[in-house]
Amino acid sequence: MTPGEREQHVISLIDRLCLTRTLKRDEWITVIRERTPGAAEHLFELARNVRHLHYGHDIYIRGLIEFTNYCKNDCYYCGIRKSNANAQRYRLSKEDILACCHLGYGLGFRTFVLQGGEDGYFTDDRLCEIVSEIRHQFPDCAITLSVGERPRESYRRLYEAGADRYLLRHETYDAEHYGRLHPPQLSAARRKHCLWVLKELGYQVGTGFMVGSPYQTPENLADDMLFLRKLNPQMVGIGPFVPHHDTPFADAPGGTVELTVYMLGLIRLLLPRVLLPATTALGTIAADGREQGILAGANVIMPNLSPPGVREKYLLYDNKLCTGAEAAESLDRLKAQMEKIGYRIAVSRGDSLNI
Ligand code: SAM
Repeated sequence: MTPGEREQHVISLIDRLCLTRTLKRDEWITVIRERTPGAAEHLFELARNVRHLHYGHDIYIRGLIEFTNYCKNDCYYCGIRKSNANAQRYRLSKEDILACCHLGYGLGFRTFVLQGGEDGYFTDDRLCEIVSEIRHQFPDCAITLSVGERPRESYRRLYEAGADRYLLRHETYDAEHYGRLHPPQLSAARRKHCLWVLKELGYQVGTGFMVGSPYQTPENLADDMLFLRKLNPQMVGIGPFVPHHDTPFADAPGGTVELTVYMLGLIRLLLPRVLLPATTALGTIAADGREQGILAGANVIMPNLSPPGVREKYLLYDNKLCTGAEAAESLDRLKAQMEKIGYRIAVSRGDSLNI
């Protein structure tokens, strides 16, 4: 095949994905491995059309509260891993978290995302108390948790306390690849099991993966896409892997904007009604990364609502954005940036249509 014919072949696979919402594993591999700038442009146009059909030009915002950076896990890529003795550890109190919610509510946020490391201090009792209080004080808001792997009973109690959504990236579908990114105590099977449990309990579930993580191949990404189709989550969070200087992957190359936005476009076609954030990591590696994400089919942005004093301590990777349009209190700047590319920030819970 000539390069032109190869590009045409990729474009025809993208068209078929748009129509049938499915590809076979070898076709996914081809679409990812053989991508060209021309095929990407075609993909983004289709992805925007699909996004406009379901979500119009609205962008949903979520107030991200990073409430603890203590973590018992030792993921090789993560800056808040247990073994990083240079991380300055902190945890927020219930009062701190509620103050963040009050500030966020006033700014127009109707979803709060409580994210943290796997911190044993936050027992079910403590976390349920926090969730119940937010539920009580902000009945019109969605509460999203992103606190890693917990037993079924814990997820159940948190749901009963008022949490509606849960973010848990599967990180990578392939067990061997998973094993190269995590210590032996963690497994791809357990991670995926948690996602199925969360779904069964009634949570709106978000999963996802890093793009360009060490050792990742197009085959791995193809398997991630097949897994997304099977799980059919309400949200998919993907962002580039960005190295952190105090981790075993300090010198590994990072993921690119180019491949990340391409994957965003493919996910929009695969799951037309999914909620798809243009992530902080994407905004970190390119000044216009989030705009590029939105123009590839993303429809969610998660500004940082943590108290400014702790933001730079939740350092998952180097140079992580936490000021400028990334900061919840600079929402006006974000609004202006989004209006410039034809989109508007919505004041709503922004529930997924993928139910
Ligand atoms: N502990 C929770 C969990 O395990 O889901 C939530 C916090 S965890 C730090 C949130 C996400 O950050 C992970 O799912 C991972 O994909 C992402 N992350 C961690 N280190 C990263 C890095 N170096 N580059 C990009 N993303 C990273």
